[in-house]
Amino acid sequence: MTSPHFEKILKVGVLALQGAFAEHCQIINKLGCQAIEVRLPEDLDSLDALIIPGGESTTIYKLAKDYALIDPIKNFAKTKPVWGTCAGLILIAREVIGGQDSLNLIDIVVERNAFGRQSDSFIADLNIHAINDPDRKFPAVFIRAPIIESVGAEVEVIASLPEGQIVAAREANILVSSFHPELTKDTRMHQYFIDFVK
Ligand code: GLN
Repeated sequence: MTSPHFEKILKVGVLALQGAFAEHCQIINKLGCQAIEVRLPEDLDSLDALIIPGGESTTIYKLAKDYALIDPIKNFAKTKPVWGTCAGLILIAREVIGGQDSLNLIDIVVERNAFGRQSDSFIADLNIHAINDPDRKFPAVFIRAPIIESVGAEVEVIASLPEGQIVAAREANILVSSFHPELTKDTRMHQYFIDFVK
């Protein structure tokens, strides 16, 4: 007799110290996973993956340090998927131009606020070959966004602007995007992340 097959519900943590974490949680839940807000090291224990949201990277780093989350997140990233969006990308980069502290989870060099001020925020329609239905462009929201200045040999570029600036990349289980997919109704970047968590 075959037993019924129940698919395990994936638990995706969202670092909830500052920034746009609530919007990520909504999309994760909508896609049939369970979103869990992460504020303490023990919140990481049962997770299958972690998202570090946009916000202010210096503030998120300081709070993560105060809450003793730096080493637990680094350990988590050794075996589980982590996705950093915007400030989250800055937080997990190998190097931030100007020397800001970062977690060095992915071999990229980033420049903060590379498009100028808050008022220079914009939406760009991107071709992202890795997501479902790639011929349909992805509406990418850039808010005082960073640029990925360079990537290491093991890093795959996922998306660039028409002018060539790299705005999304992946190295093994680590994903970064300098835009905010949680601020649009298009769930394909979240689906892409969930698919590689599976
Ligand atoms: N400018 C912010 C920073 O440096 C990032 C902005 C964002 O996450 N939307 O940290």
